[in-house]
Amino acid sequence: MVSPVAGIRHRSATHGTGADMDIADCPSPNFGDRRTGQAVELVVLHYTAMSDAGAAIERLCDPECEVSAHYVIGQDGAVTRLVAEEHRAWHAGDGEWAGRGDINSRSIGIELDNDGASPFSDELMAALETLLADILARHDLPPKAVIGHSDMAPSRKQDPGRRFDWQRLAAAGLSVWPEPAMTVSGFLKDAAHFGYGSEAGETQILEAFRQRFRPDATGPFCVADEAMMAGLARQFPANVSTRATRRIPSRLS
Ligand SMILES: [Zn+2]
Repeated sequence: MVSPVAGIRHRSATHGTGADMDIADCPSPNFGDRRTGQAVELVVLHYTAMSDAGAAIERLCDPECEVSAHYVIGQDGAVTRLVAEEHRAWHAGDGEWAGRGDINSRSIGIELDNDGASPFSDELMAALETLLADILARHDLPPKAVIGHSDMAPSRKQDPGRRFDWQRLAAAGLSVWPEPAMTVSGFLKDAAHFGYGSEAGETQILEAFRQRFRPDATGPFCVADEAMMAGLARQFPANVSTRATRRIPSRLS
């Protein structure tokens, strides 16, 4: 349940989006301007790690906390917009993806009501799929533009975590899932081709990768990790702009 919190709050079906869903507005003061001319290129998924969506929304609207997101989705599937998409919400922090930082200026942040250990509800996943389909269409983004907070900040973040069903999103065309492949350049170079940053070490990148693509894997690095990462690099290579990848042939293809 989303409990009432401070600020204007009203039901505004499809306001500002083409999604066929109700979106409640609860404006957060925690936002700024995107870097000049910076288009939305990524969608970053988070879990709230709080008791419920109402508590998360309250925190994300508290000026003293200096954090926010564009959307929060509750376990019941309720979607709340805190920051308009044209603004720069404060959800990502330090990190990089596809060789570039300032993720906040070029992304939309979605917080999912989850404590990091429990399953994500079907209602939440269905609402996320509706919202993501709408965002990708409006911003002309490919499925590989949807990443986790742990992907862009593997040295300090674990969300949306091992319980999040990335395969379900990929099956709906809203994220990516690789076919295993033979590596030609090794795990770390393949990781960089897919988009992982260079600041994190191999252990941190392996952990972030496994959380998303091999959530049941344990133990030391193995050939299955290598093959999955090679598939990601070959099938979903990152370019400077995720939009440009549609037009510029990959070095690996
Ligand atoms: Zn996060």
